[in-house]
Amino acid sequence: MNSENTQNFDLHNHTSASDGILSAAALVALAHHNHCDALALTDHDTVANVAAAAEAAKACGLRFIPGVEISVSWVAAGDIDSPLKTIHIVGLNIDPANTTLTNGLASVRGGRVQRGRVIADLLVSAGVPDIFDDAYALAENKEMLGRTHFARALVARGVVKDVASAFKRFLTPGNPGYVPHHWASLPDAVAWIRAAGGVAVVAHPARYRLASGEMRSLLNEFKALGGQSIEVVTGSHSPDEYALFAALCKEFGFFASRGADFHSIEDTPIEPGKLPSLASVDANLQPVWQLFSPQ
Ligand code: AMP
Ligand code: MN
Ligand code: MN
Ligand code: MN
Repeated sequence: MNSENTQNFDLHNHTSASDGILSAAALVALAHHNHCDALALTDHDTVANVAAAAEAAKACGLRFIPGVEISVSWVAAGDIDSPLKTIHIVGLNIDPANTTLTNGLASVRGGRVQRGRVIADLLVSAGVPDIFDDAYALAENKEMLGRTHFARALVARGVVKDVASAFKRFLTPGNPGYVPHHWASLPDAVAWIRAAGGVAVVAHPARYRLASGEMRSLLNEFKALGGQSIEVVTGSHSPDEYALFAALCKEFGFFASRGADFHSIEDTPIEPGKLPSLASVDANLQPVWQLFSPQ
């Protein structure tokens, strides 16, 4: 039994710098209210709110871990005829000022507005009058226009009843508003995180719907690149998936991570600090926070 793995570290959360709703200060206040022992901010492809979150956390005495969630396009080696899959790699305990990381993130953000225009055009073809301006207005950080902003715009228009329905009907592969996009490579994303002194973590591994062999290819490749951790307990995993990824975590010798993947009270069922502990899933998991220097 590892006593640290009972701690309430929540290491995956978003703010309005990407596709969350809360400001950095409001996210920190919520995590503090929920008795987190530590909070990581992991916005998609940007560290724009890390300094503000660090300051707010310091003011209320909450331990803060700077982070990011990098969008990656990946296909298993030897499977080059398959379409690229989108995988998310979280970087924890990064130096947000590291220019290898910040230049890499800027390159990933680059195509988002153009992609948004294509999404809006495809939605027009599917019968939804041009919704680009509505989605763009909802993106506080204009460089970070994403599918969630389109989903919220579709809800506001009354086209769908909720964000989940917008993804299901329009914004996911095979549906009329989905645009394949080329994100960072897996080697680049892991290298940027490591250059910034961080720990690379595979986010919500159950969400990629990989066959078992593909998942093993991903985890082997990630480990060979210097990746050290996978999320075991996260907002979009079921209890069965906690158990499956706890087993894979131990088999591959990874550290285990835990985080709500909180976006907003409306969008995400689990608030920061409210997930089961790692210890409650498997008392022998090594928590990723063992890698962070004690404070
Ligand atoms: P993007 O990076 O613009 O492609 O947007 C990805 C984000 O969309 C994810 O981080 C989630 O917040 C959200 N998302 C993806 N799939 C779904 C889904 N099926 N239901 C709700 N949100 C989703
Ligand atoms: Mn998101
Ligand atoms: Mn993600
Ligand atoms: Mn996320």
